[in-house]
Amino acid sequence: MQIPVLGLGEVSAEAINKLKSMLNKNFKKLKFYTSGRAEFPENSFNDFRDQYIAERIMDAFRDDGIQIILTERDAYRKGRNYIFGESEYRGPAVISTKRLDPGFYDKDSDKDKKFRRLEKVAVHQLGHCFGMDNCENPGCVMNSPSSVRDLDEGSADFCEECQVEISTKGLPLK
Ligand SMILES: [Zn+2]
Ligand SMILES: [Zn+2]
Repeated sequence: MQIPVLGLGEVSAEAINKLKSMLNKNFKKLKFYTSGRAEFPENSFNDFRDQYIAERIMDAFRDDGIQIILTERDAYRKGRNYIFGESEYRGPAVISTKRLDPGFYDKDSDKDKKFRRLEKVAVHQLGHCFGMDNCENPGCVMNSPSSVRDLDEGSADFCEECQVEISTKGLPLK
């Protein structure tokens, strides 16, 4: 199965390529490829909050099935102040790197750290695209992170139970 990795708005080629290669490394049976760039859908920006609205982005790309959509802009969804990622079963996964760089938190920018976090967010969201739920196991990538600290302490791997479950959902890891 081939899955596109799309840049939304201004996204560095480095971030897109890095994400693609991290996903290809984590999901050996899938083939991730870069599919260029798209503009944000109309009405997907909330001026008052200075953030993009994840639901509006999902609405615009839902019909295209599973794809990874990467933005460097900040986004939120209803009931949440912000998101690292948002995804749907058999639908798109929208991922924002905005809050993944330590630079966002008045620390020195750290690309390596940002990409390690990005990897965990992307694997988690792709799990949802294939029908996985959040997992209670703190050592599992499907454990829902609520902060970058959770991401730093969390795993990029599926726990044993999730590995079994994911293979029944048509996403073999090896
Ligand atoms: Zn989740
Ligand atoms: Zn798990």
